[in-house]
Amino acid sequence: MASRSIHLMLVATHPSDSFDQAGGTLAHHVARGDQVTVVLATTGVRSHHNQLQDERRIAGAELNVEERVKEAARQKLEETRNACRILGFDDIRDLGFEDDDTLLTDDKIDAIADAIRDVKPDILITHQPYEIGGLISHATIGQATIHAWQRAMGVGRGNQIRHYVPAIYFMNPMAYMGYSSLGCAGTFHADLYIDITDVIDKKVQALDYIASQYYGGAFARKRAETEDGAHGSRSRLAYAEQFQSFYPMVRYTFPITDSELDLIDEPDEAMIGRRGEIVGGLMPLPPNMAFTSEYRIPKEKEGA
Ligand SMILES: [Zn+2]
Repeated sequence: MASRSIHLMLVATHPSDSFDQAGGTLAHHVARGDQVTVVLATTGVRSHHNQLQDERRIAGAELNVEERVKEAARQKLEETRNACRILGFDDIRDLGFEDDDTLLTDDKIDAIADAIRDVKPDILITHQPYEIGGLISHATIGQATIHAWQRAMGVGRGNQIRHYVPAIYFMNPMAYMGYSSLGCAGTFHADLYIDITDVIDKKVQALDYIASQYYGGAFARKRAETEDGAHGSRSRLAYAEQFQSFYPMVRYTFPITDSELDLIDEPDEAMIGRRGEIVGGLMPLPPNMAFTSEYRIPKEKEGA
């Protein structure tokens, strides 16, 4: 690890991507004295405000969506700030693009390049550029970030300064693999797992803030087990976040940690025991939330 403190910049498509996909890793960096900046490319309102989608479903054209959108964007930003604070960072830059505008455009690239020039990060973290065939908004912002990285390292125009980011990681690269018929093959690969077991409770608490997506409560706890818990189990851990490096790493010697060396003599009982650890699933629900079986019975079964 670098001897000086570093600055990490995460470029997220939707507000909750800022902490949901790499927040445990960012919390570790904050704890070692590093700086974290989160750039939210879109408001997340048109596609990721499930409360508003339900309002729209019921009211249809009668709902004045444009009036609600502004207020909903403020709500999502506030939720995200509260969630990120739990994990120890609160430098959040809101670019404010619409999240149903999913095309790769120069204004998005420029805005991210400007953020890179301003923040001068040592590490950039963003979405895998080919997620779901490269067609959805995560992929667009992943692609825009790579273009912006390239743009920011150039001479620039006018009084723009140059900044080169030496390391880029794609977050949660395999999460959507197989999610659609377009996401089955391609460039998805996780070559780095970060053990976040010590902060999984904070990720659950952060998700509890995301009321606009109904992510709090039971869903937050299940998500900890099925997402970070699945990544953890795959890497002999309890909970992990996964990453894919964009460029090959450059080192003087092979990188290996004491934790990896400890695995040589580890009993299988300890390895399975660690993977079986449940933290998120056992955390108490917030006072205003309850488990429910209301949605449990599939319609097909009812008619059988
Ligand atoms: Zn997202």
